[in-house]
Amino acid sequence: MLTNRSKQVVNKKMTFMERIYLPAILKGLWITLSHLFKKKVSLNYPEVKRTYSPVYRGQHVLKRDEQGRERCTACGLCAVACPAEAITMVAAERTDEDKMNYREEKYAAVYEINMLRCIFCGLCEEACPKEAIFLTDRLVNVEDNRGSFIYGKDKLVESRENPIDISKRQVWSFAGEGKA
Ligand code: SF4
Ligand code: SF4
Repeated sequence: MLTNRSKQVVNKKMTFMERIYLPAILKGLWITLSHLFKKKVSLNYPEVKRTYSPVYRGQHVLKRDEQGRERCTACGLCAVACPAEAITMVAAERTDEDKMNYREEKYAAVYEINMLRCIFCGLCEEACPKEAIFLTDRLVNVEDNRGSFIYGKDKLVESRENPIDISKRQVWSFAGEGKA
């Protein structure tokens, strides 16, 4: 005997009350009814949303610099750091006409993150030497096919008109690091 919790199975005869099942059914219904009046732990998402932590790690953003140029230089460090092998990219060389679009001489012509693989660990953000990739507090959308979870630059690069403010999240991260 490995523990003292083992019980010997006894094939005893059921009593009359056990055979009619009614007390067991009523007991089950009572448990269900009692839960109706308890405080609910679930939310009617998406109508109601929880307050997320200021350092919640959600959908990535590829940032632009002050002049609106993409910061990413397709060095591949984020892909190497990614434990889920969720990042792929194709590098290209910047031409003179592209100087307004890309900050570095090399840029990511293709940059994809497989959101089904991603575990939102944030290692890509930490590995990036160009402050090009950050995780944000945005949720990844629900999709009905696997292909739509491959996020390309169209979904990852922030728009020039509506840049994504990651400064608040970064302040929290650094404050947390300082305390540790
Ligand atoms: S958050 Fe983690 S798992 Fe997701 S892409 Fe970045 S490094 Fe990979
Ligand atoms: S996001 Fe950063 S680490 Fe990843 S390829 Fe671009 S510059 Fe390199």
